[in-house]
Amino acid sequence: MPEGRHVAIIGAGAVGVISAIEALREGHRVTLIDPGEPGGEQAASYGNAGWLSSHSVIPPSEPGVWKKVPGYLLDPLGPLAIRWSYLPKALPWLVKYLLSGWTEARVETTASALRDLLKDAPLLHKKLAEEAGVPELIERNGVMHVFTSRGNFDNDLGWRLRKKLGVEWLELNADEMRQREPDLHPRYTFGVVVEEAGRCRDPGAYVAALAAHAIASGAKHVRAKATGLKLNGDKLVAVLTETGEIACDAAVVAAGARSKQLTASVGDSLPLETERGYHVMIEKPEVGPRSSMMVSDAKMVVNWTDKGLRAAGTVEIAGLEAAPNWKRAEILRNHLLGMFPKLPKDIPASRIKTWFGHRPSMPDGRPCIGYARASRDIVYAFGHGHVGLVGSARTGRLVAQLLSGKQAEIPLAPFAPDRFL
Ligand SMILES: Cc1cc2nc3c(=O)[nH]c(=O)nc-3n(C[C@H](O)[C@H](O)[C@H](O)COP(=O)(O)OP(=O)(O)OC[C@H]3O[C@@H](n4cnc5c(N)ncnc54)[C@H](O)[C@@H]3O)c2cc1C
Repeated sequence: MPEGRHVAIIGAGAVGVISAIEALREGHRVTLIDPGEPGGEQAASYGNAGWLSSHSVIPPSEPGVWKKVPGYLLDPLGPLAIRWSYLPKALPWLVKYLLSGWTEARVETTASALRDLLKDAPLLHKKLAEEAGVPELIERNGVMHVFTSRGNFDNDLGWRLRKKLGVEWLELNADEMRQREPDLHPRYTFGVVVEEAGRCRDPGAYVAALAAHAIASGAKHVRAKATGLKLNGDKLVAVLTETGEIACDAAVVAAGARSKQLTASVGDSLPLETERGYHVMIEKPEVGPRSSMMVSDAKMVVNWTDKGLRAAGTVEIAGLEAAPNWKRAEILRNHLLGMFPKLPKDIPASRIKTWFGHRPSMPDGRPCIGYARASRDIVYAFGHGHVGLVGSARTGRLVAQLLSGKQAEIPLAPFAPDRFL
């Protein structure tokens, strides 16, 4: 494939902007297409928990998860909820989701593939942040998982698989936990510290800085909503937008949870769903954790950001258009107050911010990274689900390698976009 192609990148979330930086590095000309501000609130890349956890390799669907489905349907405020009204639409995706995690071997296949994608991610992000002039936004000090009992950890398939894949960690008993985290509720009696992991202190600001860096390096940002891709035979000629066509030699579909319509325009009907998530953020909190932590019982991550203490997580299957259920954010807030009893219960509303957004999720927990079936001028890079911030760094490199027709630096078969077709 020729160098110096004009590449249109659709979507300026973490995946799109890092793909832009890496494509420019390969000598391509780049146009970033996004109706919104890069790093803005419309993107999942803005409101996520900020974990750069190279060990987050276990897909959401595991053996036996089907037994929990009735609970998902009955409790609209549970850590994973499915809205009844959306069930018929979600059903084909849900079936694939359950099947993807049906056996331990399937989960292991995904974990091993994600390990390839995420390995060294904190270092890759640190280098990108340095390049963009914001090194302080990426920290590589490890993260902590906290449990109410050691049993919850010992019985977990995920940790067994992580060990098999070479992830190392430090275990903390109740006393060690208290020393490290004096303000954490004493019901948390066991902790695991993964030192290889990192965190981002402000994901929105990080993506905005990466986009500014791409633009300073020659990329152009066109504020438009892409509606499709135009082919002449197997040759891409343009990206169609609401305001006209943008002629180009190649395109990258990185529109997060909204990528489905774009792939459909060239004949790929892919099972991409949104796993909606929420965050709550307390500005200037009185106390909080010393480390960034994942709370096993609440299924949420608590992370300090430059704007406040953020608790983010939970999954809601309700599609792209339904209104948010802000009670879910209230639950995150209540968990946070319960975890840190010294946080006042009457924090004024003016100090609490909430957000909701769309994880772009494939049923097996693996993103799509590869060529469209109709043309090798089109590269797909979406579907990163719960690991899109951490996974964006290597994804950007892979996209650039595909655009240049080079050998990808990791095996791409597990991420093949047509694996469900
Ligand atoms: C609550 C929550 C917590 C999370 N925590 C973490 C975490 O700790 N660590 C982690 O690694 N991941 C986390 N994630 C997942 C992560 O945020 C996502 O996987 C990741 O941000 C996806 O990035 P993206 O660039 O693919 O999509 P997005 O960030 O959603 O960006 C897509 C962009 O495409 C644009 N777009 C959409 N449609 C079009 C169109 N038609 N034309 C042009 N542009 C378009 C949008 O405006 C948007 O800017 C979390 C997600 C949530 C919701």
